Amino acid sequence: METQNFKFETVAVHAGVEPDPSTGAIMTPIFATSTYVQPTPGQHKGYDYSRTANPTRTALETSIAALEGAQHCLAMSSGCTGTDVLCHSLNAGDHVVSVDDVYGGTSRLFRTVWSRHGIETTFADLANQDLKDFVRPQTKMIWIETPTNPLLKIIDIERVVAQAKKLNPRPLVVVDNTFASPYFQRPLELGADVVLHSTTKYLNGHSDVVGGAICFNGKELKEKLHHIQNSIGGVPGPFDAWLVLRGIKTLALRMKRHEENAKEIADMLEKHPKIERVLYPGLKSHPQHEIAKRQMGGFGGMITFFLKGNLETARGFLEKVKLFSLAESLGGVESLIEHPAIMTHASIPAEMRAKLGISDTLIRISVGIENVEDLKKDLLQALG
Ligand SMILES: *Cc1c(COP(=O)(O)O)cnc(C)c1O
Repeated sequence: METQNFKFETVAVHAGVEPDPSTGAIMTPIFATSTYVQPTPGQHKGYDYSRTANPTRTALETSIAALEGAQHCLAMSSGCTGTDVLCHSLNAGDHVVSVDDVYGGTSRLFRTVWSRHGIETTFADLANQDLKDFVRPQTKMIWIETPTNPLLKIIDIERVVAQAKKLNPRPLVVVDNTFASPYFQRPLELGADVVLHSTTKYLNGHSDVVGGAICFNGKELKEKLHHIQNSIGGVPGPFDAWLVLRGIKTLALRMKRHEENAKEIADMLEKHPKIERVLYPGLKSHPQHEIAKRQMGGFGGMITFFLKGNLETARGFLEKVKLFSLAESLGGVESLIEHPAIMTHASIPAEMRAKLGISDTLIRISVGIENVEDLKKDLLQALG
């Protein structure tokens, strides 16, 4: 169905989803097939081998592209595969400028894998520092994540894009939109070239898939990036594609509830005497609250806070929560809590973590869609 003229909630339910022509099934079938029969050599219906394309995956790609306002989307086997495919589009000798406070796996890929293939990355605090102070003639990609992970800094996408556009050659501006989801932020509309998602998180929303996606405009970029993905092979299976497509149908409802709950919890934590500081883009005290208000439609469901005390205080608190599950990842319907220094960001060298401010008392929560009173009670009892 053409969904261009519909609003987000409608697009989320309908984009990419056509009744199956052979049976009328309203839901996209899981096309569990590796190959497709050809009536004569070289003639087919757009599908010849499932690494190259698969109809369930096509439906998912159409859906995510519509949500991001992109011409094209490529669904990936994970968010990291999306990052990897984009790195593969660079050449040895090229240079990347990345936000310093990026997802640990992104940082690890830049620092420990691509550095060995001649691609150097400079990490910069683009919330407080200027892109132009870090670029070189070889800079071919700018990597923005906003809100960042775990410090929830907000990067002004339009400002970075304006600076990147002045450069020659003009680098690709990529925005990791995993934390906001397209419901709250659409970076292509702000001038970015590529949007990356870990669909593992909010897009799927039910903590039962690892997946990724990249979205962009232009035929040339489509051919280049699809060629790379098809050559290296990081594709999601049809069942995973189907699960994410199913998850997306309730994205708008979920994001709204994640945010409502997060706002209330952030307010409660900010007033609590055992908490030193709360970072949530929706709080007036957040250093980039005004930018968040301008570039996002809402502030999301992630909250970071610093406990008063030390590592033992943090450990005690994390052992006492009952409803919040102590686990990595985020963006599912259930609430999660974690300790970035020991868990999600352990792959970041200790001195880099210290410089960023990822301390032993830093806690990150992914607020789920449960009843907020139950969530608040759980945090309060654990704070004691
Ligand atoms: C999880 C995550 C990734 C990596 O995605 P995977 O699906 O785990 O490979 C990238 N960016 C952000 C912001 C993430 O949270």
